[in-house]
Amino acid sequence: MADTVNTLPFFYGNITREEAEDYLRQVGMSNGLYLLRQSRNYLGGFALSVSYSGRCYHYTIEREPNESYAIAGGKSHRNPVDVIDYHSQEMDGLVCLLKKPCNRPKNMQPKVGPFEDLKEKLIREYVKQTWNLQGAALEQAIISQRPQLEKLIATTAHEKMPWFHGTITREDSETRLQNGARTNGKFLIRQRDMNGSYALCLLHEGQVMHYRIDRDRTCKLSIPDGKKFDTLWQLVEHYSYKPDGLLRVLTDPCPRPDGVIGQIGRPPLPRDHPGLSSALQNAAGGLLFKIMSGIKKPHVQQPNIAENLNPYETRVPNNLVGGKEAMPMDTEVYESPYADPDELRSSTVDRKQLFLEDGELGSGNFGTVMKGIYKMRKTEKPVAVKILKNDDNNPSVREEMLREANVMQQLDNPYIVRMIGICEAENLMLVMELAELGPLNKFLQKNKQTGIKNITELVHQVSMGMKYLEEHNFVHRDLAARNVLLVTQHYAKISDFGLSKAVAEEQNYYKAKGHGKWPVKWYAPECINYFKFSSKSDVWSFGVLMWEAFSFGQKPYKGMKGNDVMQMIEGGRRMDAPLNCPEEMYDLMRTCWTYKADERPGFKVVEPRLREYYYDIAQ
Ligand code: ATP
Repeated sequence: MADTVNTLPFFYGNITREEAEDYLRQVGMSNGLYLLRQSRNYLGGFALSVSYSGRCYHYTIEREPNESYAIAGGKSHRNPVDVIDYHSQEMDGLVCLLKKPCNRPKNMQPKVGPFEDLKEKLIREYVKQTWNLQGAALEQAIISQRPQLEKLIATTAHEKMPWFHGTITREDSETRLQNGARTNGKFLIRQRDMNGSYALCLLHEGQVMHYRIDRDRTCKLSIPDGKKFDTLWQLVEHYSYKPDGLLRVLTDPCPRPDGVIGQIGRPPLPRDHPGLSSALQNAAGGLLFKIMSGIKKPHVQQPNIAENLNPYETRVPNNLVGGKEAMPMDTEVYESPYADPDELRSSTVDRKQLFLEDGELGSGNFGTVMKGIYKMRKTEKPVAVKILKNDDNNPSVREEMLREANVMQQLDNPYIVRMIGICEAENLMLVMELAELGPLNKFLQKNKQTGIKNITELVHQVSMGMKYLEEHNFVHRDLAARNVLLVTQHYAKISDFGLSKAVAEEQNYYKAKGHGKWPVKWYAPECINYFKFSSKSDVWSFGVLMWEAFSFGQKPYKGMKGNDVMQMIEGGRRMDAPLNCPEEMYDLMRTCWTYKADERPGFKVVEPRLREYYYDIAQ
């Protein structure tokens, strides 16, 4: 949302209420003159400043848990612009109708808040520290989880601030403030307990004042009867420019002795992730636990899971870490199994190290897929094992499986099911990373309450995996929701490389020898008409996959025969938008279904478009 709003001429960014009043005054304070600014106390929220009868009125546009926006107690809208459009027609509690936007002076960009500058550095450091990632894995983690990471950073950023001293005593805070320069307004914040209560300690005329900062039931922080904030740094920012009930404004942060932070307890923040660093986890003294085999890092158990569910998420069964949905990086299968040079030196799996479990994960032409455990030198890995049925009459199935293994072996990306190795034993077995929640289409059929944000997140991850394939000159040729497997509800991996091919860089397409058993409904016209496969034809299939995802796993072109579908496409017609599908996403599907491959965008273009929309709805 922030990106879209940034382009509005009447959006001023992170300016104060007083600055907003100045701008309105400069333009004449006519009745109904308005501007939009970023909320300085609610994360992701906005503030609307309106002039009427020579006075300024300010309304907070809060971001609601279901990703809509509303002025407190008012009607909800999809975005802040719709809120403004609505209030230009209906007063509905406002002092007057919004009549005229007060545009920014020429050459003025929306003001960037102090946190924005820090954010990038903090996110990078956080991902590095928490999941020990670097290089491409680090970049991919940041791209796919940016909205979640930004929320996390926002709620934990105070720990990096010089004014935050952790859980020191009241007496210690006084000693620290009285040490060195005794400037009026020198301040620090200490943590009072583990329930998210703090104290603001402020030096005034040689005396230290202690103001309690409490967290209410909705997790907002405030000094008693004071303005409410989502984060401590917003609170500090606010009281640094106006006293608003304090004896004076905050001026100088009191430095921590030796720069060392006191012990930090982790209050139960709903949007908090328990894995800031091992030091923080240990400080929390919580129970370290592992929820299920696929989740790797130990995390701090939070006292009340129900309270700690992220309010921005739909509540569906899920893999939880510390009462919160696991991020891809929390799982065993984010990092490459090839990352540790002591482990996977060869692509051959020793049968003695492979333990198959009862129960099938799935089956296909070749045989069955079973769950198993692969015991490596240092660790055990839960795996999926594709077992070729013993069918001596059909050597081509064996060849097919070996071809699939050969392709998989060359791919290494967090959004692609990686091969662990091949095992030649009682049967030929292909050992792969496990994606336990199974195919995306089936998952969505069963979990209709999955939110649009969640679906967009998953589809975006698929586009990241496909961008990787495109960059490495592979065509998938069977991209469909059934071949996207879920590790968790928030982590998708592309699978089934049975039809995939490496393509020559200079030619960039694969020419099939003839028409096989093809998933025609997912195929671009050039595949069917000229047997020509490229990343561009994968983009067409990706459009169909998006359609499947946003229609909760429905079959595309339902009830139609392959020939009818081809006629429909040749006639310039395309599938309608799935029910309640966001316009932006249907637009993208239609772009993926551009008839001519040359005019169709590649994943290089599709991925950032999805990313932008995902960030927009998730931030
Ligand atoms: P066919 O070759 O007959 O078309 P298929 O290509 O659909 O079969 P796969 O998709 O490779 O076969 O696997 C069949 C099913 O096994 C999948 O739909 C899925 O449910 C399960 N499966 C496959 N790979 C994994 C995995 N890595 N983790 C978890 N489940 C898996």
